[in-house]
Amino acid sequence: MSLDDRPVRGDHEALLTARGLHKSFGENEVLRGIDLTVHRGEVVVLIGPSGSGKTTVLRSLNGLETPDAGTLTVEGGPKIDFADRVTKSTRFALRDRSAMVFQHHNLFPHLTVLQNVIEGPWRVQGRPKAEAVDAARGLLARVGLSDKENAFPHELSGGQQQRVGIVRALALRPDLLLFDEPTSALDPELVGEVLLVIKELADEGWTMVVVTHELAFAREAADHVLFLDHGVVVEEGPPERLFTAPAHERTRRFLARIM
Ligand code: ADP
Repeated sequence: MSLDDRPVRGDHEALLTARGLHKSFGENEVLRGIDLTVHRGEVVVLIGPSGSGKTTVLRSLNGLETPDAGTLTVEGGPKIDFADRVTKSTRFALRDRSAMVFQHHNLFPHLTVLQNVIEGPWRVQGRPKAEAVDAARGLLARVGLSDKENAFPHELSGGQQQRVGIVRALALRPDLLLFDEPTSALDPELVGEVLLVIKELADEGWTMVVVTHELAFAREAADHVLFLDHGVVVEEGPPERLFTAPAHERTRRFLARIM
């Protein structure tokens, strides 16, 4: 493909567009037609009761879960129609564009912090080791963990482990960061340091989709909030509006219960 053949993309074009996502687990219809648009540099936050489908949406965006129906387009890539047979290579193509930070950090226990961070860029993406190490050190410095590069995960606090988890995701240089309740497994006093790192990344312009129960964080960091209940987006909008003047009774009830 010559340079002239590349698709022309304006800034206004979405990085990710999901339309009509449906997913059932057996009889349990978990997603019932989810639409989601994420623009470059945007922080999109998903909130809603437990079991409403937030994690399933997130996992569908990077190919960890395959919806039964709906479409997904990532900027510059083909439109994936889940009604068609979705191949392994399609799922991997999606995964290449994003990196996920899980509730539990999932670090390799037998590898040091530095080894954990370079594993993806060096062994999976095939970048030169020296370059991966340099980049990893830069990222660890940014989250205040330079002195921990030779520590093993069990030698770190939960908050430090989760910050390494975030660095490991950043090291893959994804277009899109996905956070699945990144602080819900942490002791309350450790939540703040992790949210601060995520907020700083948001301020630096990283594009992210965050599933969280931390509504104060959502209000401060999000550009756009979606409230999910029973597999549908009940309501969405900018946080100022959604939190102060929710239009739907279900949103009001959820916010009243949790805030
Ligand atoms: P949330 O993130 O809003 O708590 P989830 O997306 O995790 O919601 O789950 C939505 C529903 O889907 C729940 O009822 C959950 O039990 C079910 N579910 C999620 N993953 C699976 C799975 N792999 N197999 C069966 N049921 C699942």
